[in-house]
Amino acid sequence: MNPIADLDILADTTAPVSSAPDAQSEIDQPRTVAASAEAPNGRRVFIETYGCQMNVADSELVASILGGEGYGLAATEDEADVVLINTCAIREKAEDRVRGRLARFRAQKTKRLAAGEKDLTIGVLGCMAERLRTKLLDQEKLVDIVAGPDAYRDLPNLLASADETGQAAVNVHLSREETYADLTPVRYDSNGVSAFVSIMRGCDNMCAFCVVPFTRGRERSRPVTSILSECAQLVEAGYKEVTVLGQNVNSYRVDADGHAVDFAELLYRISLLSPELRIRYSTSHPKDCSDELLHVHRERPTVCDFIHLPVQHGNTDVLKRMRRTYSREQYLELIDRARAIVPDIAFSTDIIAGFCGETDAEHADTISLMEQVRYDHAFMFAYSERPDTYAARKYSDDVPEAVKKARLSEIITLQNAVSLEKNRQRIGRREVVLVEGTSKRSDEQLRGRTDSNHMVVFDRPAGLAKGDYALVEVTDCSSATLHGTFVSATTLEDAAHPSAAV
Ligand code: SF4
Repeated sequence: MNPIADLDILADTTAPVSSAPDAQSEIDQPRTVAASAEAPNGRRVFIETYGCQMNVADSELVASILGGEGYGLAATEDEADVVLINTCAIREKAEDRVRGRLARFRAQKTKRLAAGEKDLTIGVLGCMAERLRTKLLDQEKLVDIVAGPDAYRDLPNLLASADETGQAAVNVHLSREETYADLTPVRYDSNGVSAFVSIMRGCDNMCAFCVVPFTRGRERSRPVTSILSECAQLVEAGYKEVTVLGQNVNSYRVDADGHAVDFAELLYRISLLSPELRIRYSTSHPKDCSDELLHVHRERPTVCDFIHLPVQHGNTDVLKRMRRTYSREQYLELIDRARAIVPDIAFSTDIIAGFCGETDAEHADTISLMEQVRYDHAFMFAYSERPDTYAARKYSDDVPEAVKKARLSEIITLQNAVSLEKNRQRIGRREVVLVEGTSKRSDEQLRGRTDSNHMVVFDRPAGLAKGDYALVEVTDCSSATLHGTFVSATTLEDAAHPSAAV
């Protein structure tokens, strides 16, 4: 699942590194809520989210479910009656971090109770909830409630039960049907410009390194009408960009209007909603990225010419061990086909260094594939084993840490050089930028993304605001950011092509 990365969800890894702007923070930094004005039932919930965009979208659903029961949102844990951590089981580091936060909340609860203050109910949600419930509940006694990714509707009951009985309440049942299709997420983490829209849940792919199929269950697609209605509401509310989310969006399929609607058709239908709504998606498994989908990119100007297409490795034998179901050659053919259909398309990817049994020659194939594809961004990880996965059961995690590190370092060095080179090629071009807000470095500058998902920073002109489109001429760059000069305000409709050259 991003520039963000993520999102083909990744194996547990150490020290993930991204060449994409802001990606690191999107993976590693917790997202927290902004307080809501009302708390009709007198109780406020603090939600902290770790992991990928799917988790952020899930937390927005949780806020919606609890809001419907009269809970308000708290901006800090100190103001809260309930703290919920929405977790990520993808990487060990994320688990360790969540554990640390839970211990801190537990200490706060103990302190409050000793001082005769209001109680603090502590809950853990999401992927890690399912995987570590026994440990968190019975051994470490860190939490009061545990709710898996398909049990969010049960949260009000779980909270009531924990309060009434003083006993831990748990629901980690994985559903084959739940898509939360009828819920309108509360966009508490949003900048008011871009929003995530979840179109499916779970994954059936069973990649050898990945824990997602065990923590999020089987694949389910959300009905078309519910997705279109959510996107239409976002347009109505002034949003200018949606990122459509699924563990593998290319598997999206539902029966609607008497025929099967696949992901290409869904994207096409979303693109008919507004000529000013940019559409991105994540993540796209290479094995079923169709020509129809590529033609939607080509024909619909609001569908961004950018695909996060995780390759994971450059050697066919390793891909086989990873159970990715495509070969190096098939992946490269797909890249060529995509570039033939959509000439200016940009790619990002995920790469794992040091997977089980990886030899020097196999690693060299990853390097040569990167040199051939020349990704705009990449999310690069050293492999580390996750419990219960196919790789953990069948293979030995036998590449020494020092070798993994050295190979990862080589991959990062190459990607940084390629990102810089590709950014330099954009100097002199005029790009359509959707303004996301003020630059982190200066209030006098704005930042936003191009159609190709490159971050651009430029001096703030009078009258331009967050959510506006601007034509910006690229004048300079680093490997992560483009710098530019404002040319004019524009609309997507007015811009002949989002990445038109001067
Ligand atoms: S199992 Fe599913 S979520 Fe995990 S890497 Fe494979 S396609 Fe992505």
